[in-house]
Amino acid sequence: MERLRISGGTPGFLTIKVSIRNQVGVPPPPPPPNLNLVADLVQDNGHWDTQKLNHCFDNETVTAILKGGQPSSGGVDRWIWTLESNGQFSCKSAYLAQALERAPHCVVAPKLWNQLWNSKILERHKVLWWCILSSALPVRAVIGTRFHIDDQSCPLCGRCVESIEHLFLSCEVALHFWRSSPWGIYPVCDTGIRAWDWVKFIWDLKHKGARVDDIFLYASIVVDTIWRVRNEKVHNNCPVDINKCIDNICNSYADMFDTLLQSPTPALKEAWSLPPQDWIKLNCDVKVGLDSMCIAVVARNHLGKVIRIQTARENFSDVLCGEAAACSLAVTAALDIGSKYVIVESDSRVVIDAINGKGSRWAIENYISFCTKSSHSFSSCYFSFISRSCNFAAHNVARWAFTHQTFGSLPVDSVPDTLFCNDREV
Ligand SMILES: [Zn+2]
Repeated sequence: MERLRISGGTPGFLTIKVSIRNQVGVPPPPPPPNLNLVADLVQDNGHWDTQKLNHCFDNETVTAILKGGQPSSGGVDRWIWTLESNGQFSCKSAYLAQALERAPHCVVAPKLWNQLWNSKILERHKVLWWCILSSALPVRAVIGTRFHIDDQSCPLCGRCVESIEHLFLSCEVALHFWRSSPWGIYPVCDTGIRAWDWVKFIWDLKHKGARVDDIFLYASIVVDTIWRVRNEKVHNNCPVDINKCIDNICNSYADMFDTLLQSPTPALKEAWSLPPQDWIKLNCDVKVGLDSMCIAVVARNHLGKVIRIQTARENFSDVLCGEAAACSLAVTAALDIGSKYVIVESDSRVVIDAINGKGSRWAIENYISFCTKSSHSFSSCYFSFISRSCNFAAHNVARWAFTHQTFGSLPVDSVPDTLFCNDREV
């Protein structure tokens, strides 16, 4: 179980990672000796004292602290539960963290799990998928690895050992359900396909133009049905009525499609717009690498002329912190330009909402605080959300600067003109 401590103190916030394995609810250990306040780790110039940080904490913790930005605001020291974006403890997140720790480790990128949790399916289905993908369902093969059971055969077909892959992918009953799908896709038996392979196959269909949300919703109803009829058979000895099940799958799909995946309303055609006369507009974006990222700002005047390009490298790859850091960089650039009327545009709704006081995220508090405080230095300063499809100039510059590892205030003529288009990736 891991959590971070953010303390305020004067003059800043600090994130300290404390590792407490399997001891939910146990108070965290005391801070290192001679460290009582966050302020003890901040230099007179307001920056982190990295030497002290390195002395007090491990590398991972120091990286987590630096990722949150320079400690820019005063405040009261406090604890943060890092597993929730609002910093408040929740049983759900604590339970999930422990359950994930207990689950067998598999090589699955966190972004795949995120994709699962963000899918447009019922919460119940997400949990079932999680159990399937983590081998956490009590099928007979799994039980058999823990203690002896006489019969490990599949309760539906009786022909094979009941493993998760067999039950959900290759059992003949499962195949009947899969073949009922309107898309004509089903797992190919005997290829050693794993549950994750099947899910990834479905998600990758987006590259072929398929509506993955629809297919994954259908797939979720199929696995739910399989698990239900399997349990009916095991516990109540109910025979499986394949046709009735397929009818139910189709009906459930139609119902849930209406509530979960209503047809999208046609999107308004959006476009990047010029700032008014005397104003400058700064668009910002990030390009994320493996363990670093590039943040970029493109400033333009009321004629659309690029007047400043600012990029910076950050030694972390957390997108949210990066987007917040990019907004801070935009504010710094605007201060440097000396403009009085400023619009900062970002395609991160979370960051823009946080700056505008609509919701807070502990992880980006330092950046938000810097932006809001600095905005008082201008006669007028707005932070607004812009869709990604209108933010390509900053997006392209971030990618270009990341590829060429070019950081700082870049002369406008040193950057290819073609990058400044607003409507496409270059
Ligand atoms: Zn079977």
